[in-house]
Amino acid sequence: MINQIRILSQRFYAQKGWIVLIRTRFAPSPTGFMHVGNLRTALFEYLIAKSQGGQFVLRIEDTDQERLVEGATQVIYDTLRQVGLQHDEGPDIGGEFGPYVQSERKDLYLPYAKKLVELGGAYYCFCTKERLDALHEQNAFGGYDRHCRDLPKEEVDRLLAAGTPYVIRQKMPLTGTTTYDDVVYGTISIDNKELEDQILIKSDGYPTYNFANVIDDHLMQITHVVRGCEYLTSTPKYVLLYQAFGWDVPTFVHLPLIMGKNEDGSVSKLSKRHGSTSFAGLMDEGYLAPVITNYIALLGWCPKDNRELFSLKDLEQEFSIDGISKSPAVFDYDKLTWLNGEYLRALTPEQFTELAMPYYREVFGEGEKDWSLLTTILQPRVTKLTQIPEVLSFFKELPEYPADFFVNKKSKTNLENSKTMLEEAITLLEGLENWQMDTLHDSLLELAARLGVKNGTLLWPVRIAAAGVTVTPGGAMEILTLLGKDESIRRLKLGLSKL
Ligand code: GLU
Repeated sequence: MINQIRILSQRFYAQKGWIVLIRTRFAPSPTGFMHVGNLRTALFEYLIAKSQGGQFVLRIEDTDQERLVEGATQVIYDTLRQVGLQHDEGPDIGGEFGPYVQSERKDLYLPYAKKLVELGGAYYCFCTKERLDALHEQNAFGGYDRHCRDLPKEEVDRLLAAGTPYVIRQKMPLTGTTTYDDVVYGTISIDNKELEDQILIKSDGYPTYNFANVIDDHLMQITHVVRGCEYLTSTPKYVLLYQAFGWDVPTFVHLPLIMGKNEDGSVSKLSKRHGSTSFAGLMDEGYLAPVITNYIALLGWCPKDNRELFSLKDLEQEFSIDGISKSPAVFDYDKLTWLNGEYLRALTPEQFTELAMPYYREVFGEGEKDWSLLTTILQPRVTKLTQIPEVLSFFKELPEYPADFFVNKKSKTNLENSKTMLEEAITLLEGLENWQMDTLHDSLLELAARLGVKNGTLLWPVRIAAAGVTVTPGGAMEILTLLGKDESIRRLKLGLSKL
């Protein structure tokens, strides 16, 4: 039933107030990496469909054969899988409207272009490369001079019969305006005289993006075309194509620009100088996939209640098209880091330990440690898991440090009493059988009491000697526990030798 409804005109059903099945598509060109902007488009397409029980299609746009990058399609699959955007149809899973790779649809476009010639919306152009180059030299910005637009039919037939190479160009109206309504940007109008007779079919027989996207969106019954606002001014050309074929024009949803913050406080289009701009780059920097998804959802979409933390499931429920804004969104790396920290803190300690384990292993190797103790120390502190090896680096290797680290006003330590404290601590710890956090805690506090000093006076030099740095995650007891008895005593003795 649903399929039948879809096959009939969506406008007809929409007018009657019947429900139209929403179909969106993500149509990336395989360039080898997934730019934040592309991922945002994919996410919004997914959410527009899923928030209304619709379908999300993946189509690979590889008609620009010169720009193909090996393995690039895999990057698209991998990214979508990592962020959880499961498509309903696509090259890898098939579907009713396949094939879903444009190069595999190659033969399908030319007949549509020929049909368009018959309908008066396109024409054959036999201009040679030399002629076009010369034209370009005379007037680089003038575009094509429509030389072949009005060739007599007999002449066209003769040239075709003689096998003359050709392209097919769109026959733009020379007067009037073309108008469409964009869901986000409102009514967009363009003077037709500004539109170039763009190429639809290239001389190698491949369609241009400008043609293929319209044919495919129509054949795949896409109801909502969602893309970056850089396409706002190309869309009238697509609208003219839909109209020339007599097809329904889909709903257009253009998304706002994504900007980056410059050092001087100004903003400009997001680029590498602002930070990582690809999904893989952000992952390498230690941002977690669900956090990237959450953050990207907020780039140009505002939930009604200003809430900021969303899982993909939440977004599927909360997302609504009218929350998309047209003002440029600013990609704020500090905010992303904050969000990552929030996400890490919301995990259970077990989940945190599991995610952090590769980084723990980087520091501690394959041995067994009290991982839950480490997690207790780190979970409230780190904003990215990649910070872990750096934060814990003193465990791996005791850094060189100067004796004056032992001097601390607040703990009332100086070089002299630090020496006594370390001597006492070493004697105590050497005799300690049970190297556990609570035993260490109780014995060291007892020792401080016996010596008649503040806890800090004993613990400061112990911690400095154990870590070799003044700022550490966790206190003396935690560090000693994790270092183990032998390494702790070795480090304390080394500290003592500085005094
Ligand atoms: N292949 C185009 C791109 O990657 C898709 C644009 C569109 O969504 O129509 O930019």
